[in-house]
Amino acid sequence: MAPGKVYANCNIVDVEDGCKILENSDIFVVDGKIADIRPHGVATYGWKVEDMKGAYAAPGLINLHAHLFGTGAPSKVISGGGAQKVVLKLLYTPLGKFVLSRLVASAAKQQLMSGVTTLRAVGDFRNSDIELAAELRAGKGAARGLRLFASGPAITVAGGHGAGTFALTAEKPEELAALAVANIDAGADFVKICITGGVTDAKKRGEPGELKMTAEQVKAVCDAAHARGKRVAAHIQSKEGMEIAATCGVDTAEHAALMSENALRLFKERGGAVVATFSPALPYFKLPPEITKLGDDCAYNSEIVLNGMKDAAHQAADNGVAVGMGTDASCPFCTQYGSWREVVYFNRAGGFTPEQSLYTATLGNAKVLRIDDETGSLEKGKSADIIFTKGNPVADLTELSRVFCVVAQGREIAKPKVKRNKKIDKLLVDMTSTL
Ligand SMILES: [Zn+2]
Repeated sequence: MAPGKVYANCNIVDVEDGCKILENSDIFVVDGKIADIRPHGVATYGWKVEDMKGAYAAPGLINLHAHLFGTGAPSKVISGGGAQKVVLKLLYTPLGKFVLSRLVASAAKQQLMSGVTTLRAVGDFRNSDIELAAELRAGKGAARGLRLFASGPAITVAGGHGAGTFALTAEKPEELAALAVANIDAGADFVKICITGGVTDAKKRGEPGELKMTAEQVKAVCDAAHARGKRVAAHIQSKEGMEIAATCGVDTAEHAALMSENALRLFKERGGAVVATFSPALPYFKLPPEITKLGDDCAYNSEIVLNGMKDAAHQAADNGVAVGMGTDASCPFCTQYGSWREVVYFNRAGGFTPEQSLYTATLGNAKVLRIDDETGSLEKGKSADIIFTKGNPVADLTELSRVFCVVAQGREIAKPKVKRNKKIDKLLVDMTSTL
């Protein structure tokens, strides 16, 4: 074994084995991979040894659902209107492209600095996410080390979720399929569609998950993507949406809602997954409308969505369907450094144990992406994707907000810093204390 770096004297969180702690362990890293894990004190001659002084080492977090164009600050631009029109017009100029590439690069950096070592971007403008993913794969940029999977713009129909902003639209099934093929040809790692409406664009109380895409439209996109070896992630916020997704070939149900027995069976057979995102739903439900600025029905509809996600996540977990989590970063109150919050919400609002929550944020999410042979746990042969905290994150999940060193594919970032939005942080800390 060629000498590399040793992170000595760590308490390793073994997410594979019920989050048991392997005390007094040394992690040997060579060429971006974990070359070995040994009890502390085994000879390290020739190695660069860093004494971690009993710090906790957990696998880098995986965020399965983020958009990279925003900061999570609530803004009138997000809810439509004149300001949004101006911004959208600007985005489609050369200057807009430049600004976009800066925004997504900054978002990815924030994600990495907050302990996210694998990220899935599920809908961004003008292929800015795809281009960033290529840059990172070439080892370039401030977020290098971060493993990024990008969909390019989402795909939906006119009036669908994200239509006119982060989603492209078409009507005929073959036109929708062509949009998917164009994204794949541009380098997308998977395809994102929006089958139902969302909370922010619901017109009525009780209709956050109104069906927008037909079964025929969904099937056309899924068939085109699968024919090219790519999977399909779908925004879904109702039982009807889950049924269409399950029967037409969707691989990962984003947000998700209660499933029929048929839908559950089909997701299981396909090796599909449910990806919960409590981070937007909780503040929209819990914070007063004068703060969320998302309209009076938003809290009502968010509660429906929240319960649907919880139902789907438990149905999936209880029946051997993969469950993942993501933050929906860029949505109001969903910052680019908030993955730790999703883990806390999964526990306190989702009804999962701390161990299950941390497992889901790491190895569980890696399984959803089918890269669990590469990352998601600290094991010999896997990528060196590690976060270090002083306190035990299993005993207190909020320790994940105090990561003092990140290692991503072997790249070490000591003392990582994120740009915090103090106002949002304060609101969310107060809200979380009521959960
Ligand atoms: Zn989203």
